[in-house]
Amino acid sequence: MDSYVELYRAANMIEAHAVKGYLEQHGILVRVLGEALGGAAGELPVESQEVRLLVERRHQSEALTLLQRYQQELAPWQCAACGEQNDGHFEVCWRCGAEPEA
Ligand SMILES: [Zn+2]
Repeated sequence: MDSYVELYRAANMIEAHAVKGYLEQHGILVRVLGEALGGAAGELPVESQEVRLLVERRHQSEALTLLQRYQQELAPWQCAACGEQNDGHFEVCWRCGAEPEA
């Protein structure tokens, strides 16, 4: 039997699938729990539904490293020059072209 461990809890299905796609690009198989809940789970409001991502135990540390890198890439940063919020994948401010302060 496969030994899966919980890697991450996503706030919603969109985030879960974004993370899953990222990990799978790096060769890590991901199981998503939370989308196929039936019956009793239907009472829960959709907004409060957490989605759990599981990976095989042997991939856990690698997956955690990738997850941290993914979150760093996504982390928004604020431009010191003009105050604009930039998505993590922008290397310079999209508004004024300034570089982020380290
Ligand atoms: Zn700026």
